[in-house]
Amino acid sequence: MAGRSDLTAYGYRKARARFLAESDVCHICGHPAANVIDHINPVARGVDPRDEDNWAPAHGVTRCPTCGRNCNGEKGSNTQVKSLNTSRDWYESD
Ligand SMILES: [Zn+2]
Ligand SMILES: [Zn+2]
Repeated sequence: MAGRSDLTAYGYRKARARFLAESDVCHICGHPAANVIDHINPVARGVDPRDEDNWAPAHGVTRCPTCGRNCNGEKGSNTQVKSLNTSRDWYESD
């Protein structure tokens, strides 16, 4: 099931639809009707975005009909915390 590396974009979309058909319980708020695939480990870290072991259902395209959260969107905005550059010695006056 997982581990196929020859998925086209079309196959990827179909795989995601099938994944959500099998389980649509949002892994963030725990309510059903999830509509996007969230990646448990950030894909930016070299994780294959098509690795289904790294997939979890989440609300994103539309808000959760149960609690009204935009789960995947919230998560994105919360994790994009800009790192404060405190190492700059801007106060040095010598
Ligand atoms: Zn949710
Ligand atoms: Zn919810």
